[in-house]
Amino acid sequence: LMRRGGLFLLLAFVTAAFASCGFDDQEGFLEIDDDLEIRVQELTGFCTVQIKGHGAVDVESDYLPNSIACENGNAPLEALKAQAIAARTYAKFITEAEKRPLEPTTRDQVYKCSYATPKPIHYQAVRETAGQVLTHEGKLIVGFYVAGSLRSGASCAAGNDPTGTERRVTYNQGLTGNQVKKTSLGSMSHPANRGAKSQNGAACWASNGWKVERILRYYYGDDMRLAELPGQCAGGEPGGEPGGGGGEDDICRPGVASDTTVPTCTGSDSVPQILPRSAWNARPPKRNQSAHTPNRISIHHTVTSNTSTDSAAMVRQVQGWHFDRNFPDIGYHFLVAADGKIYRGADESRMGTHVKNQNSHNLGIALLGTFHQSTAPSDAQLKSVARLLAYLGKKYNIELNRTNVKGHGERMATQCPGGQVLKRLDDMLAWAKADTICTGADADKPQQDDAPGAGSDKDTKGYRYVRIKTTSTQPVGHNDPIDGFEVDAVYIERSGTSGSELIYASAVVCSPGVSNPGGALGAPDNFTCADRAQTVAGVPVGAQLMLEMPSAIKPGDILFVTKHAYQPALNDCEPSHTARVSISEDGRVWKSLDQTVSGNWRLPLQDAHFEADPEDETSSEDDAFDFVTPRAGHWYTPKLTLKVRSSNPAVVKVVYHAEEFDLGSSQNRDSLFSVDREFNRFGVRRIIARGYDVDGKEIAKKEISITVTGFDGTIPGGQTEPGSPG
Ligand SMILES: [Zn+2]
Repeated sequence: LMRRGGLFLLLAFVTAAFASCGFDDQEGFLEIDDDLEIRVQELTGFCTVQIKGHGAVDVESDYLPNSIACENGNAPLEALKAQAIAARTYAKFITEAEKRPLEPTTRDQVYKCSYATPKPIHYQAVRETAGQVLTHEGKLIVGFYVAGSLRSGASCAAGNDPTGTERRVTYNQGLTGNQVKKTSLGSMSHPANRGAKSQNGAACWASNGWKVERILRYYYGDDMRLAELPGQCAGGEPGGEPGGGGGEDDICRPGVASDTTVPTCTGSDSVPQILPRSAWNARPPKRNQSAHTPNRISIHHTVTSNTSTDSAAMVRQVQGWHFDRNFPDIGYHFLVAADGKIYRGADESRMGTHVKNQNSHNLGIALLGTFHQSTAPSDAQLKSVARLLAYLGKKYNIELNRTNVKGHGERMATQCPGGQVLKRLDDMLAWAKADTICTGADADKPQQDDAPGAGSDKDTKGYRYVRIKTTSTQPVGHNDPIDGFEVDAVYIERSGTSGSELIYASAVVCSPGVSNPGGALGAPDNFTCADRAQTVAGVPVGAQLMLEMPSAIKPGDILFVTKHAYQPALNDCEPSHTARVSISEDGRVWKSLDQTVSGNWRLPLQDAHFEADPEDETSSEDDAFDFVTPRAGHWYTPKLTLKVRSSNPAVVKVVYHAEEFDLGSSQNRDSLFSVDREFNRFGVRRIIARGYDVDGKEIAKKEISITVTGFDGTIPGGQTEPGSPG
C-alpha cells in the first residue's frame, strides 16, 4: 500500500467452504508498472499460462479446472462458470500487464490444492465458457473476485463474513459507464477496475437459478461484455467426458472457419472458395480506399509463423500489424494458408496497401508464412494461389504472365515473397493458365463485369452463404435440451435434367454460444427427442450460425432449413424459437429471406429473392443513418438486437441509449453497428442511437420509439421504477 502509482491487486480469497486454505490479506497487493499498457488493446488467444513452480500450463484443460476446483469448488455450475471466466480474465490480465508467472496461491489464484481436484463439473464449467473473458468497451478488465459474505435464501441475504472480504465486493446491477463501482482491491481510477465479484454471492444466485452472464453483470456492471478470445485453445478434460472438449465444438470457435477440407473449385463451379472476413474475425476497415479496376497482381508472404496452424489468427495478426502502420485495412486482398484455405482480406474493388506507390490497379495475394529462408510453401498453398490467379485473371481480364503477375520484390526492393515462393511462380501461372486447376463448367461463375457499372445478372450471382440468426425464445418448448433455435440440416434442392439433387451445407462459421454446429451439416438425422442434443446445432438467441454451400444458391433452387425430418414424434419436444434466415454472396453483406422461420422451413427461391429488398440489410437507403432493427412503433419482447446502418463511413462507433440509460456501444462492422440487449423496463421506450467519428465527435443521431413487453408479450405493471436502466 506504500507503493506509488500503479494498479494494486488483491484477490483470490478462497470461499468459506474452503476456509482451511486461509487467505493473505494485505500482503496480497501487487503492483503493475505504470509504464505498461495495461488495458489490452486487442484480445489475443491465451493457450498457456506461466505458473511459478509449474512452468507453462495449459489454460483451458489444466489451469482453470484446477483453479476453480480449489477456489470455489462446491458452487453450482453457473457460479463455477462465472468463476472460470473471472479466473481466465485475471490470469490473462496479469500475464499481459505484468509479464510475470502467476503465483499458484491466493496471492494470485490457487492453482492446485490438497483439498480438491477437478471433478467433471469443473471441467464442464471451463468448457462451457471456453475462451471467454470479461471486457468493457472491448478491452479486458481485471476480473477481481473475493469470497464475500455468506449468502442464503431467495434474496441471497448476507450472513457472516468469515474472510472479511465483503467490503471489497461491488454491486453493480443495472449500472453502466461511470456509475459502475470499482473495488478497493485495485486503483480507484484505473479503467480496468470494474468491480469485484463475490464467490459466495455468485453461488447463492446460481442456486436461485441465475445464469452466468446475469451473475457477472450483477457484480461488474451492465455494460460488462463477455468476449471470446480467438484461437483454438479450448481443451476439455483429459480422456474426454461425453460431449467434452475438442471434437465438433472446435469448429465453432468464434469466427474461425471450420472446413477441414482444402477449398477446391471443382464440380459445376469454377470459383475457388474464398472464406469471408468473418472467418478470421476481421476488424472493420479504418478508412475507405479509392476504387480501382485491377489489371495486375502481386504476390507476397506475410512473414508469420510457419508452424502455427491457426491461420485465421495469423490473418488477424497481420491486420493488427497493418493497422499499427496506419494502413486503412489489412493490406492484401487475399491471404492463402498452408492448408490451402483462401481468406478474403481487403475489398478487391478498392486499392490495397501492399506495394509502395504501386497499389492502384494492383491486387495483393499473400501466402501465410515466411519463405525467404529454407521453408517452402506447401503444395496446397501453391495450388490455391493458382486457383485464385485463374479466377482473378478471368474476372478482371488480366492475362496471366510474368509482366502482370509479379512477386513484391520484382516490383521494388524487398525480400518479399521470398525465394521459395518466387521460384514456384512460373509453376503457379502454368497451373492457372492450363485451367485444369479449376475444371468444370463456367455457368456458376460470379458476374464478370468488364465495364464497371455493367448490369448484374442475377442468374450468375453466387450466393454461397446461409446465415441462421436466432431472434426469439418465446415460448421455449418443454423437454428441451437445445439451447436456442434448432438446426438439423441446411440444404438446397436443385432440379436438373437428371432429376433433383440435394446439396448440403459444408463449412461452418458461427458466433460464440452455438452448440454442435456440425449438426447443421449433412442430411437430417434428428429422429427422437432424446438424440437432439447430439445431432442438431443449437443457436441461442442473438447468436448466429453461418454455413457455406459447396455451390452457389440460385433462383429455382429450394432452400431447406430443417429442425427435424418431419417426424410427428418430435412435435412435443420441439422448441419454438424463431430465426432469421439470410443469404450472402461473400459472407459480409446479407440479404434477409425470412425473419420468422420456425419448424421445418422450405423456400422455393425465385428471382424476387435475389433482387434488392427494401427491408434487407443490403439495400441502400436514402437515410444515411437509421435503425435496421428494432423498427419504430413495433412491439418487442425484452431481448433485442439494436442495429443501425450508417452509409457514412466516417461513423466508426454507435452508442445506444434508452432515454438516459446507456445500452452499450458498437464499433463499425461493415457499416452495421449492433448491440444485444435485454430490457428490464417495459412499455414505450425511446431508443436513441448516436454515431461518432474517430475523434469521438457526434456526427449522426436517430431516435425511435418502440414498445417493449415482457417475455409473454404483455406489459406487466410495477416494473417501471424510476432509475431502473433499460
Ligand atoms: Zn510483400
